[in-house]
Amino acid sequence: MVDQRRNLQGVSHPPGVDRVARSLTDAGLPAPLRVEAARRAVATARETGGDAFALAETEATRLRRTLLTPVINATGVLLHTNLGRAPLALEVAPTATNLELDLETGRRGSRQAGLSRLVQATTGAEDAIVVNNCAGAVLLVLAALATDRGVAVSRGELVEIGGGFRIPDVMVQSGARLVEVGTTNRTRRSDFERVADQVALVMKIHQSNYRIEGFTEAVDVPDLTGLGVPVVADIGSGLLDERCPWLDGPPPTWLADEPGARQTLDRGADLVIFSGDKLLGGPQAGIIAGRADLVAACARHPLARALRPGTHVITALTETLLTVLEGRGTDLPFWRMATLDEAGLRARAEAIVAGLPDGVATIVEVGSTPGGGTLPHIEIPSVGLHLRGDRRDALRWADRPIVARSHGDDTVLDLRTIDPVDDAFVTAALGALDDG
Ligand SMILES: *Cc1c(COP(=O)(O)O)cnc(C)c1O
Repeated sequence: MVDQRRNLQGVSHPPGVDRVARSLTDAGLPAPLRVEAARRAVATARETGGDAFALAETEATRLRRTLLTPVINATGVLLHTNLGRAPLALEVAPTATNLELDLETGRRGSRQAGLSRLVQATTGAEDAIVVNNCAGAVLLVLAALATDRGVAVSRGELVEIGGGFRIPDVMVQSGARLVEVGTTNRTRRSDFERVADQVALVMKIHQSNYRIEGFTEAVDVPDLTGLGVPVVADIGSGLLDERCPWLDGPPPTWLADEPGARQTLDRGADLVIFSGDKLLGGPQAGIIAGRADLVAACARHPLARALRPGTHVITALTETLLTVLEGRGTDLPFWRMATLDEAGLRARAEAIVAGLPDGVATIVEVGSTPGGGTLPHIEIPSVGLHLRGDRRDALRWADRPIVARSHGDDTVLDLRTIDPVDDAFVTAALGALDDG
């Protein structure tokens, strides 16, 4: 093979695309993508005189890495939006389910019924409906309950969540009319009282990813009740219950100011809206929970059909909520990462360093962050590996890409977000770095 390549370099024409594509059978790509990689490599070889076979291997690797692939999250951001937020182990048997069959009557049932029961049990809501994500949930609530009518929102809460998701824009899409009240830093109940007769809803949007500090005043859910219109709280992160009954111990202290869905309903919200793949630790989903008549209005709206989740999401969310209700929260990867103690993290860091040549990595104290647009400024004490220089590109080129974070001019890998089963792989990858 090597000789053949050397011979080929001597010829003025690069080898044919077919031959180069055939050399890529072990590249982990289907034939059409092998041909694409080969075509690009041959074109480059023609221009640069490079080795078409070697170029093709690089192209194939590049192509394969544009497809969805497992990576190791060493960033210390527990819910990393670029890395799929809450990681979730899910095995789905290739079998039919009672998705829309009522096993009692044999008639058509609702795909929402089982989930609604589990959301009721975890949050105390009367009823619930699940859609594709939280942005979809906000859109559906506004469309179903406030099209052509006003929705009062504090000027301090007209937020952009990330990825260009802006509450005022969603409002326009839903057909609801935004009625801004108060000011950026101070909003009072009296501001809402003044517009109460012009609106169909008042909406409270959690400051998920920002804080307003200094001379501030905000109206919390209890002070929004009694205005004669339903109160909808977009709490975002999806903490089901502030007491975290799915954990053995008390709630982590860093959760202190995060509103729970159960408590938000107890405080008087008529509906809460939240994500499935943030602090809930489940699949991407948006959950609308609360008063049965309002949930029913959402379910009847045509958008509900367009935004409904598929079987795999329903399966994953069912499993997640059952795990929560059984008190096995740390079986969920997010809650396991969130509650790991520092002593265990340090022991893992020491084992990794012991497996490396001297001086490759040192152990440092770091702060993990919840991420996913939740809990800004919060750091969870953690343990990391410190590498000299910016090694992030090289780490991303590992067989299983390792995504680390920069620390000044250097690189840090946070043990909290690395699954312990990957420690051996990380050790090997760091050892190989040293060679390069
Ligand atoms: C994250 C968030 C959303 C959007 O949730 P997705 O599940 O990403 O659609 C909406 N509102 C708030 C307050 C959030 O924190």
